[in-house]
Amino acid sequence: VTGVSDFVMPLPLPLDVVSLAMGVVNIESVSHDEGPLADSVEQALRTQAHLTVERFGHTVVARTDLGRAERVVVVGHLDTVPEDGNLLAYVEMGKLFGLGACDMKGGLAVMLKSAALRDYGREVTLVFYDGEEVAGLDGLAGLVQGRPDLLQGDLAIVMEPTDARVEIADGGAGGRASVVTAFAELVGMEPVATQGRTTAGRFTELGIPALTFGPGDPRLAHTRQEFVPTAQLTECEHVLREWLRA
Ligand SMILES: [Zn+2]
Repeated sequence: VTGVSDFVMPLPLPLDVVSLAMGVVNIESVSHDEGPLADSVEQALRTQAHLTVERFGHTVVARTDLGRAERVVVVGHLDTVPEDGNLLAYVEMGKLFGLGACDMKGGLAVMLKSAALRDYGREVTLVFYDGEEVAGLDGLAGLVQGRPDLLQGDLAIVMEPTDARVEIADGGAGGRASVVTAFAELVGMEPVATQGRTTAGRFTELGIPALTFGPGDPRLAHTRQEFVPTAQLTECEHVLREWLRA
């Protein structure tokens, strides 16, 4: 018999990316309370025999080890800013509304879909981390300090909302890497340079080419009206799938 406290909300990976994003939105995960969402993500990833899954607090890392030449690290944070109650997910006119839909549960759903591909031409490491929206050491910084080996790769993709554009740190060496250019070509656009400190910048500091690419308009983050266009969920899923299959 499973008690209520043991119940883990399922995130079935065969679901389409929009349904999966709704499921992720509906598991409340305000900073410091990412446990239930981390549990659901971990459980979903553990259904995939080709993944090695590790858990560090409320951070979950899953990786393939298929002997491919290149590795892509895809990164997303599990937490949302607090709101007066969780805003449940609903879809209206091609927009998925709900707390964290834009920042960045849509991106998390895209990451989850990439965990269940049938064929991989590149290795993938998926990093779902906690504590991004609050001050202090977040789960990604914890890995930088404790398990930097898990962050190694030929390209890091941070799935924060960019309106499905490719953003690179302004002046960063990561943006000049040929692998970044190749990814931007797959998306079909020139990379956009961004100012200031970004999560992608934490990878370029480690010497790993990095870019930001995810569904949703970043200006909608942290607002009660936030939504993610369902077409961008599908588009980002497609791009990531093509990159991982290549
Ligand atoms: Zn974010």
